[in-house]
Amino acid sequence: MGFLGLFTRNKPKIMSGSTKKDGFDGWIKCTGCEEMVHSKELKENLSCCPKCDHHFRISAEKRIEILADKKSFKELFDNLEANDPLQFTDSKAYTDRIKAAQEKSGRKDAVIVGTCTMNKRKVALGVMNFAFMGGSMGSVVGEKLTRLIEHAIENNLPVVIVSASGGARMQESIYSLMQMAKTSAALARLHVAKLPFISILTNPTTGGVTASFASLGDVNIAEPEALIGFAGPRVVEQTIGQKLPDTAQKSEFLLEKGMIDCIAKRSELKEKVATVVDFLMDNDENVDCAKTRAATLDELIAKSKIDREKNKVQIDKHKKLKKR
Ligand SMILES: [Zn+2]
Repeated sequence: MGFLGLFTRNKPKIMSGSTKKDGFDGWIKCTGCEEMVHSKELKENLSCCPKCDHHFRISAEKRIEILADKKSFKELFDNLEANDPLQFTDSKAYTDRIKAAQEKSGRKDAVIVGTCTMNKRKVALGVMNFAFMGGSMGSVVGEKLTRLIEHAIENNLPVVIVSASGGARMQESIYSLMQMAKTSAALARLHVAKLPFISILTNPTTGGVTASFASLGDVNIAEPEALIGFAGPRVVEQTIGQKLPDTAQKSEFLLEKGMIDCIAKRSELKEKVATVVDFLMDNDENVDCAKTRAATLDELIAKSKIDREKNKVQIDKHKKLKKR
């Protein structure tokens, strides 16, 4: 019996991966530097590795906690729930998948939207939840974001959306793809209302989300080393028959190529977004500048109409000549 006492001990709790399970209390092997980090230390550091600053994935709730002023977030449109118009079944029925994800997350779908203040300024905030079916965009995600943008237009608010998504939700097929056009059109109306949209891209933001609203920010901000792209690296490699560099589709590479405007560490994110929003909302010089641009645009459109008329006259003349 004495031996048993010697050899049995509580196993240390160790976990590795890019996510920290909620409530996990123990050591985690960092995906960035492979060092051991304690979950408590990680939690105190906004889920960024204290040794290499690897940004672990966080929940939508945690994201709101980081971005919104304390207790200022008011959720909107939380009653929306997905239908199953195609009665889609792969290895599991879509309705079962939804139910399981709802039970796991305590949420109805993959995005949380609402209003809050950020450094005391009111904003419309949308946050995608990767834990809910890979943050996939189905009709509910598209509808909630569209309603959020419309709410912002009605209430003269800037829009901030944090993306984390595997893309369109395949179980809803064309209904998912339609959301790309719908959210983009809503943002176009926001633009006409001269209200800014700040897009925050976090790891990973891919597929139909990158290909629609997430890339349409007046300012596109990414977290460090986030995977951002349309198709994943493997698919791209198979398509172009070339090996991609390791850095491809990462924030730093995309900044260099001009696809995003800046990179912000999680600890600096709120400050940066708030500064950008302040600058875009409160700057008379900017407003004048935008007005001039709009006037120039009107002129250009008018000119192109005249050009088209001229062109038409030319074409008609040409046709007449040909007939002779
Ligand atoms: Zn690390």
